[in-house]
Amino acid sequence: LSDRLSETFKNLRKKGTLSASDVDGTVREIRRALIDADVAFDVVKEFTGRVRERALGDEVNKALNPAQQVVKIVNDELVGILGGQQRRLEFAKTPPTVIMLAGLQGAGKTTLAGKLAKWLTKDGHTPLLVAADLQRPNAVTQLGVVAEQAGATLFAPEPGNGVGDPVRVAKDSIKFARDKQYDTVIIDTAGRLGVDAELMKQAANIRKAVDPDEVLFVIDAMIGQDAVATAKAFQEGVDFTGVVLSKLDGDARGGAALSVASVTGRPIIFASTGETLDEFEPFHPDRMASRILDLGDILTLIEQAQEAFDEEEARKVAEKFATDTFTLDDFLKQMQQLRNMGSIKKMMGMLPGMGQMRDQLDNFDEREIVRTEAIIQSMTKAERTNPKLLNGSRRLRIARGSGMTVTDVNQLVQRFEQAAKMMKTVAKGGVPQVPGMGPV
Ligand code: GDP
Ligand code: MG
Repeated sequence: LSDRLSETFKNLRKKGTLSASDVDGTVREIRRALIDADVAFDVVKEFTGRVRERALGDEVNKALNPAQQVVKIVNDELVGILGGQQRRLEFAKTPPTVIMLAGLQGAGKTTLAGKLAKWLTKDGHTPLLVAADLQRPNAVTQLGVVAEQAGATLFAPEPGNGVGDPVRVAKDSIKFARDKQYDTVIIDTAGRLGVDAELMKQAANIRKAVDPDEVLFVIDAMIGQDAVATAKAFQEGVDFTGVVLSKLDGDARGGAALSVASVTGRPIIFASTGETLDEFEPFHPDRMASRILDLGDILTLIEQAQEAFDEEEARKVAEKFATDTFTLDDFLKQMQQLRNMGSIKKMMGMLPGMGQMRDQLDNFDEREIVRTEAIIQSMTKAERTNPKLLNGSRRLRIARGSGMTVTDVNQLVQRFEQAAKMMKTVAKGGVPQVPGMGPV
């Protein structure tokens, strides 16, 4: 999705004024990009209709830079479809808060149960994980493993005692939580590979029995066009209060997100971005829109950086960005620290402009850090502190010293400069700019 759109916007930006046919051409490209990204057809139609109407209106005509204004409109409309404001998890006035998970088998419910538990625990909550998926023999064990990883308690039916009745288990768990003072109950339920009447009824019965504060519909972001039908079926069969997009770390770049939010009118509350329990974050519509438009998810990046580094370190780095004293040494140190933060590939994917480099990204591996290290270590102290010193002959010397090519050195310096510039804007509280693009 992003690649197509960035191309379209790039062309658009070259123009000073916009004619109706420019707008139509752009809207056509957006439509094609969205359809390619598996956004549901009705959603595409409505979306492009609104963009076209606004793009032909006064706000664009009178704008200083009409092309930029169109990009802003696309961004606004995307944020709107994705739910506008960030929607937070609702807690019960009187604990326990009951959160029920629903969705197809393999959507990521059980994993999410662990992620939620870990995340809530960090915030001082005391979650109880409830095994109400009694469909698959392995399901209870799997939830047990996840609970242990999250440091949370598992509530499961005693073997041989009423096994097989998930509604009963769910009900009992609430009483247990109340007695033992767990403040959140997370109920994992069963799913099938396809929508299934019996399991839908089971989920509906669990919902009726425990009256959850939140019912989260978990959907695999990779399932493409099936997302809409699945979401609708669950909305009719069980209904839900919020959506969790899982597997956003894969190739899916927002098609399913756009469709599901738009078609069900339910907010997306969390995004799941990997198999381990930390790969999970509250969903921000504005950030997702930026990601779709390939602005890169700078804010998420910074938040994750802040979690992985200690606070003091983060403060120092921010200060360096703001005052322009960020050096190549810092850059290297940061890259090394990023190793703690999950896969480098994922981090790179969140940097602006990387949408166009997916192929390279797929070949990206940890060796990149080793190469970066080699290059930076071949620089003098003065060069690392002040990359402006790096003229042609110095770059050649560094390339030879590190066993890399001058192009490698150039790319590294360029990446460093872009990162420093963007981070500086963000550190000052500004809107990040993509090189060659205006603020959106
Ligand atoms: P459930 O059947 O809905 O309970 O789904 P599971 O939680 O068992 O997940 C199914 C598979 O998807 C497992 O292999 C998980 O490790 C994997 N998975 C879950 N969430 C994510 C995610 O956000 N990203 C990726 N890449 N894999 C995930
Ligand atoms: Mg499961």
